[in-house]
Amino acid sequence: MAVNEIWTIGRILKWTEGYFAQKGIENPRLDAEVLLGHVLKKQRIYLYVHFDEPLQPAELQSFREMIKQRINHVPVAYILGEKEFMGLTFKVTKDTLVPRPDTEILVQGAVDRLRSSGREHVCIADIGTGTGAVGLSVLHFFPGAELDTVDISGAARAVAEENAAHLELTDRVHFFTGDLLLPLQGQTYDAILSNPPYIPAADISKLSADVQLSEPHTALDGGEDGLDFYHRLCEHAPAMLVQGGFMAFEVGINQAQAVAELAENNPLIEKTEILKDYAGIDRVVVAWKKEA
Ligand code: GLN
Repeated sequence: MAVNEIWTIGRILKWTEGYFAQKGIENPRLDAEVLLGHVLKKQRIYLYVHFDEPLQPAELQSFREMIKQRINHVPVAYILGEKEFMGLTFKVTKDTLVPRPDTEILVQGAVDRLRSSGREHVCIADIGTGTGAVGLSVLHFFPGAELDTVDISGAARAVAEENAAHLELTDRVHFFTGDLLLPLQGQTYDAILSNPPYIPAADISKLSADVQLSEPHTALDGGEDGLDFYHRLCEHAPAMLVQGGFMAFEVGINQAQAVAELAENNPLIEKTEILKDYAGIDRVVVAWKKEA
């Protein structure tokens, strides 16, 4: 891309799309549009009706920097520093997993169940919170909820704290840094939610280059069969639920049955449900504690 030529929006999009495609970027056109829209501070639709508009030198310079990052498999969300989830904007950094659309199933499933519980005031926990996307979204959609979050990474906690502040939820959240449920010992919750690391260790090397090269492996690696964290959660979380409370976990492909069994093996659990994602894949296991 020569700097001293006139680059219009239409021309640079076409060039970038081709360059991304050649570098093996999965959605070359979409990524080019999203990044350019961000540089120009415009919606994507603006690009289509202003194809002939030339870029200013400073805009071209920022866009070139973004292109360089993207071809090194830095995901668009990290380049922009944010990702939309549940219609809310979350700050993301390389210390946090990028929130995935599939994880909205966990949030919606939890919000629906909290609403139909008839309880107005509830306490929930989000274990391995990362950006805070799961727990903070539940708070946003359920005004009577309070949240405890735990993450082993202090850097992730800082991101979640920023997100809580930005979403004006800080007064309903407590942040803990530590290992899984340990910082919450002695507390009880109406719901315990988690999207733990669940990729089998041997499969990490088969993930897309974007995920493998850029996202934190501690947020992905679930041990040999990917189920390490579910073993621990299913052993200890039920004792920390109120009577009639539930725990809900996102699971990886083909893990739902095994995780439901782990939950049912805990004598405090009465029944389980499995929720499917947008692609029809079993994605969330909900396990209910006995009423009394
Ligand atoms: N869904 C993520 C992926 O497939 C993994 C998230 C997780 O391990 N919790 O990359």
